Order: sequence, then C-alpha cells, then structure tokens
Amino acid sequence: MTHNLPKASLGYFPTPLIELSRLSAKLNGPKIYMKRDDNTGLALGGNKTRKLEYIMADALAKGADTVITAGAIQSNHCRQTAGAAASLGLECHLVLGGQAPKQAQGNLLLDQIYGCHIHWAGANRKGEDIPALVEQLTAKGKKPYVIPYGGSNEHGAIAFVEAYKEMESQREAMDVTFSHIVFASSSGATHAGLMLGNKMFDNDCQIVGINIDKGEMDKVPFDEHIVSLANSTAQLIAADYQFTADDLILNSDYVGDGYGVIGVLEKEAIALTAQNEGILLDPVYTGRAMGGLIDMIRTGQIKATDNVLFWHTGGAPALFAYADDLDIR
Ligand SMILES: *Cc1c(COP(=O)(O)O)cnc(C)c1O
Repeated sequence: MTHNLPKASLGYFPTPLIELSRLSAKLNGPKIYMKRDDNTGLALGGNKTRKLEYIMADALAKGADTVITAGAIQSNHCRQTAGAAASLGLECHLVLGGQAPKQAQGNLLLDQIYGCHIHWAGANRKGEDIPALVEQLTAKGKKPYVIPYGGSNEHGAIAFVEAYKEMESQREAMDVTFSHIVFASSSGATHAGLMLGNKMFDNDCQIVGINIDKGEMDKVPFDEHIVSLANSTAQLIAADYQFTADDLILNSDYVGDGYGVIGVLEKEAIALTAQNEGILLDPVYTGRAMGGLIDMIRTGQIKATDNVLFWHTGGAPALFAYADDLDIR
C-alpha cells in the first residue's frame, strides 16, 4: 500500500483482539473472536475514530477551522467527530435528523458536552442541509470542511485497510485463521476498507457486512456505493484491484423495520453478549450485526468448524437513549 496522506493521532491502537469462548459455547457454535474497536479511546470509542484520523488530518492540511458533518440524532460518527474536533481545536457543526428532544441522552448528550453547534434537520439525517450551512459559515469568514456521512470516503476506507493490517498481525500472533469477518455496515467505508485489506493479504476469508439500514448512499444503491468506494480507494493507494458486485457480501436479512428500530434480534444479541462476555453492544449497529451472526450460526450458514471474527465497531453510548426499548432483565 502506497500513499502519503497525513494522519492525525486520535485513538489508541492496536485495539485488542480477543476470543469469546463463553459466547461460542453458549451457541454451540464456531470459535468467535472479537476486534475491539469499541475501545479506540476517543470520545468513548468506535470505528469512526480510525476514519477521522485521516479525515481530520485532511481538514487541517486544507486550512479548515471548522468541521461540519451529519447524522441521526444518536450518531456515533457525530459524537466521535465532536470529540476529535475538540481535541484539535476545531469548531464543530452537526446537522442532525429529527428535532431537539426535551432532554439530551446518549450520543447527543456527549455532542453537547463537547460544545458542538447542533442544527436540527427534520427528515434530512444524511446531510441534505449541509450546503446551505457551508454558505452561511463561509459568509461569516469561517473555513468549513465537510465530512461525509459516516466518514465514508476514501480516507475513511484507507483507515480500514490499515485496520485490517493491524488485525492481520494479531491474527498471526494468535495463530488462527478466520473463515468470516462479520460487522455492521451502513455508510460503507468499514466494508470497503476490510474488503480491500482482505484482497491485499490474499486471505481466504469472507468479509460479511450486515446491512443495518434500508437506505441508499448519495442516491446510489448501498451495494454499488461500497464496491465503487473499494475501487476508488484501491486506486488512491495504487493497489491494482478492480472489484465487482460479485466480490461484495452484504447481508440485508436483518434490517427488520429499518434503521434504529430495535427488535427481538437486537435485544437477544445485546443480552447474550453482555451476560456471557461482559461486553456491551449497541442497539442500532453491533446489536443487529451480532444478532445476524447468531442467526447465521443457528441456521448453519456459519458452521461450528468455522472461526469467525466479529468486528465490534462501537456504539454503546447509544444504549441509554434506547432505554425504553431495552427492557432486558
Ligand atoms: C458507523 C458505524 C458502523 C458502520 O460503519 P460504516 O463504515 O459507516 O459502514 C457500524 N457500527 C457502529 C457502531 C457505527 O457507529
């Protein structure tokens, strides 16, 4: 991999790679391992920290004094962006879907503590209102830098090629091989980066994204978006690969009633992982992805002889905001 992109240091790496032997036994399933990107260290952690190391460095290199990004009210990406901006002395504007609640909880509470400027956007949770905000801030003499939804551009994907490399040395040291890497996929850079890393190391491992959203990205179907991001990222790092739709594994069996709607699948996965391993998943992303993994184990799509890596992408701060849906006892 060759590139000379600047990188800001925002997290603590490598994140741990551990074995979940009690959960495996509980499911009579394969060996399950977990990459703990919930422990990246920035602003309570998560996969956006890796992406932001490249994105924030790019913002600084371009002379920005302000960053703008968008997301859902409980966006983990926005919360980590808020923390990163504070640590680098940048002003942070968040364009959030919905309306201001009476009381802030979870990620939104943290956004406020970080001193962000919050703009409520109603139904527009994917940044539709950003261009107008850029104009306003520019007119005031600010130098805004727009971070794409979920931090999913080539910078974000490169961070996950590096994450794959980090995982690879841990895997080798543990002397295991993985048949599957399973994770929550929603804006695409985690998926694109892991696909590319897997290709570069030529591993015989399936990169299985669990789709957590019914939507599309920038009016492009999500699967096409991931493949094209993998290809543009490969180009940027001078890796000579061309991915097609056949290379992508995006499992949309578990989107249920859509983004952020908690069902039995998520609740059971959160409870099993907490009660057998002491590890907290989140309701929107990792709870759904782990629920998908558990179902794939129970239905024989993943066999007891396989070795699975679940990539924990973070998100637990949102648990508190979903207290009403999570009556687990
Ligand atoms: C953003 C996010 C994801 C999805 O990662 P993408 O790169 O956006 O697909 C998964 N899990 C959590 C907790 C997230 O915040």
